[in-house]
This record gives sequence, structure tokens and C-alpha cells, in this order.
Amino acid sequence: MNAQTLKQMDLDYVLHTYARNYTHFVKGNGATLYDDKGKNYIDFGSGIAVCSVGHGNERLAEAIYKQAKHLIHTSNLYLIEPQAKLAKKLVELSGYDMRVFFANSGAEANEGALKIARKFGEENGELKRYQIITLDSSFHGRTISTLKATAQSKMHQYFGPFPDGFVYAKDLSDIPNKISDVTCAVLLELVQGEGGITPFDKQEVQNLAKFLKEKNILLMIDEVQTGIYRSGELFASQVYGITPDVITTAKGLAGGVPIGAVMTSLKNIFSPSDHGSTFGGNFLSTSAALEVLEILSALKQSGELERTITYFTQKLQNLQKAYHEIFIQEVGLGLMRGLRVKDAETLSAFLESSFKNGVLVLKSGKNTARFLPSLTITKEEIDLGFERLESCLKAL
Ligand SMILES: *Cc1c(COP(=O)(O)O)cnc(C)c1O
Repeated sequence: MNAQTLKQMDLDYVLHTYARNYTHFVKGNGATLYDDKGKNYIDFGSGIAVCSVGHGNERLAEAIYKQAKHLIHTSNLYLIEPQAKLAKKLVELSGYDMRVFFANSGAEANEGALKIARKFGEENGELKRYQIITLDSSFHGRTISTLKATAQSKMHQYFGPFPDGFVYAKDLSDIPNKISDVTCAVLLELVQGEGGITPFDKQEVQNLAKFLKEKNILLMIDEVQTGIYRSGELFASQVYGITPDVITTAKGLAGGVPIGAVMTSLKNIFSPSDHGSTFGGNFLSTSAALEVLEILSALKQSGELERTITYFTQKLQNLQKAYHEIFIQEVGLGLMRGLRVKDAETLSAFLESSFKNGVLVLKSGKNTARFLPSLTITKEEIDLGFERLESCLKAL
């Protein structure tokens, strides 16, 4: 179908929730995407940290195909072999003594975390503890409760009334001020993905973890974006040297097949009928995730992931230095990185020009260019991407 007809169909029939770019991508290979005109793009966004093993990954496609031929779905009323295997793998690779619940998205994984926090609050303490503290500039999802957990009031317009019990802290150091006798949990990202790619200080996070443990308040880490080796470890929590009570993850877990997971050391928090999902953890998504973890854990083991992170970071830092009048600062963790741009207009111009030159770069917060390349990106793809960025910066 020609791109113009397709665009019109999209406008006529799909709700307008996205500020879409109407480029029509038709094929992908590794970190390279091709549009319907045959133009290629180096993908430094990976479908927002989702395509962790790149586009057109043969092993992932094969795993999905093999599973789909046999069974896609039977429901959680019966045993699901890849689901049990995936839970075991997440626990073993992370080293966290936890159990896992599977959902279909990041928001849904966070819904699970909120329910764990509420039940924990109900069962621990004389008062019903129900308040959950989240941070300014956070992002936790688009459902009514996760939207309320997202401490960005501009996103709350139109959609109230919201469920009660969300309290916002300005930053980590403000969390103790927000604790009351009905606080049950703190939910936060270690690197705020939508809030400008700002990794929190390791020592501060460790101090907070210790403080919350003493207060018997749950520490819940939203690793929907930071998880699945994006930080260099399976979870950013490992980089920070903390043991959270709850971890949520989603985006990169199944390489593009929808999935979400909530893991907790409160192994017996739920009883049958407390929580559930029709699709969550079905044969298709968990088989895909198992293959993704197979690929990525080998990449980690071999030292290849670390080399890619070092190489990519070096490239980004060089670019920042060469164009320091545009890029104020280089920020990030692992392959979740950002360039802080001097102002929002310059960022828009940079993103537009990058796209024209064949590089996909994302935005984060008000003035950060965000880089989330696939973890399997090659040195050649990185080189080509940065070459193209250089040429558009020269023209900017
Ligand atoms: C993307 C994201 C979510 C929401 O995930 P969906 O799959 O879009 O529901 C939640 N938290 C963080 C940190 C995210 O980056």
C-alpha cells in the first residue's frame, strides 16, 4: 500500500493518541531499519528499548515460529512450561530470591506491584497502610493507577478522579519527608527514562534502601526501561547493589512480543484469585523471552555487551565534546544514554535533522536526546550512526 493512502487510513480509523511520524518502515535487520522507499536508518531507539536483540533476529523469529506451531495460548488455568522456565531464569540470572507474575506490559507489571504494596500494607501494621511514594518526573504507565503513580501533573488533566494513596517526593532526599504512618511502599526508577535519563546516585539509593528496610516500607523498582541488560546487568538494581522487595520489567524482555513481569521477594503475598491475567505469561511471549534471555545472557557472559557499552559511550562522549555548545552534558547508564541539549528548540532541530540523515534518536524530558540502541548493535552500525549524526550537526 502506498504511504499516502496508509497515512490517510491511519488518520481516519486510528485514535489520535500519538504524534506519529508517518514514515512507513517495512523491514529491519539488526539495528538497521528500511522504509518503503528503500532508505535505511540506524535505529538508536529500538522501538523505545523494546527490540533488545535487534530487528529481524533469526533466533527470536525461529523461537516464536516453533512455539506458535505447537501452542500459542492455553490460559493460566494450566501448566505453561516456558512460563515456569522463564520465571526460573529471571530469578537465577538476577540472583534475587523472588517469585514472578507475568503480565502484558509495563503498566500492567506496575499494577501488580501496586497490588503487592497494598496487600502488604493491609497485612503489616495496626493501621491499614496504603500510601505509595513516587518521584517527580517519574513515568510508570498509562492506566488510571499507574498514571496517578506517575508524578507529572500535566498528564493527569481530564482523567480524574484517581485512586487515593499516591504521594509525590521531589527527589530521593525528599522521600523521608513524605513518609507517614500509612506509607507502605516507595516506587521509583533508578534512571528516569521519560524524565530526562538521570541516573540516581548509587550511595543515595543504597542509603534509601537501608532506611526503608528499617521502616518496613517496601522498595519497588520500576525496571520497565532499565531492565533486561540495558544497564549492563540484567537489572539496574544489581548495578546499584540493592535488593529491592519488588522489581517490575517489560520493554526489552521478549524483544517486541508484549510481556510484563513483576518479581517480588514476598513469595507468598498472593493467593489464588488475588491477581491474574488472561494473556499474561502465555506460551508465545514466554518462549520469546526465554530466547531473548538466552541471547543476552551469552552476550553478557562473553564480555561483548560491556565492550558495546564502552564503545557507544565513548562515541557519545566524543560527540558531546565536539559539539559542547549544543550538548551540555552526556548522561546515562549502560546502553540507556542521553545528551542534554541546551534548549528544547535545538533538541527538536537535532532530532529532525538526525531522522532526515537516517538515524532514529528519541526524546526524553524537556531537553534530552535519548539513545536506547539494541544490545546486539554492531560496531559498524554504531560507526555509521555517529557518522550521520556528525554530518547533520555540522549543518545545524
Ligand atoms: C514504558 C514504561 C512504562 C509503561 O510501559 P507500557 O508497556 O507502555 O505500559 C512504565 N514504566 C517505565 C519506567 C517505562 O519506561
